Amino acid sequence: MFIGHFAVGFASKKFAPKVSLAWLILAPAFLDVLWPIFILLGWEKASIEPGITAVSPFNFLSYPISHSMIMALAWSVLFGGLYGMLDKSKRAAIVLGIGVFSHWILDVISHRADMPIGFNGPYIGLELWASHVATLMVEGSMFIVAVWMYMRVTHEKDRIGRWALAFAVGLLAFFYGQSLFGPPPPSILAVAISGIVALVLFMPLFWWIDRHREVVNS
Ligand SMILES: [Zn+2]
Repeated sequence: MFIGHFAVGFASKKFAPKVSLAWLILAPAFLDVLWPIFILLGWEKASIEPGITAVSPFNFLSYPISHSMIMALAWSVLFGGLYGMLDKSKRAAIVLGIGVFSHWILDVISHRADMPIGFNGPYIGLELWASHVATLMVEGSMFIVAVWMYMRVTHEKDRIGRWALAFAVGLLAFFYGQSLFGPPPPSILAVAISGIVALVLFMPLFWWIDRHREVVNS
């Protein structure tokens, strides 16, 4: 899943209003933050095979450190626990921890049966990616509802709070459209590098948006 992970982040604001949107989105995206790093390190393997699913051309050959259920649980505890400790907030820890683990569940819904439970399987996956229409309907509606939730929980302090949010949402929708209907990426290396670049660009943007909006009712 792609934009659905961002949806979880936007929706989380309602449950942890004091936590910046940047952290709330980083949590559900976290396994896909680790994945390109592990690909570059050679610890995990994937290839591009157009047509392997209708929507995504990725063949995830091995990704137990970033995407097994066992490790997803460990990353959730680590991410939520560390943030909660530093921020002294149990609520933030729980919301962020659930956010990290939600990635695994949403990926099980969208991937082929390549999502490992332990390091060497068993593998599960419901393959929402078999259908463009179903993928777009599920992820698109999640994203719309989540952004709407974020806009209800927060109110813009100034014009940046409104237009930077509109820009980010537009940009995400554009990249999502590209991933659904654009040509397959040239290589896994390119995917890994652009994933890391996107993170470096998007996280400050989400942080900036959140600074220019205030929570209406917590
Ligand atoms: Zn993933």
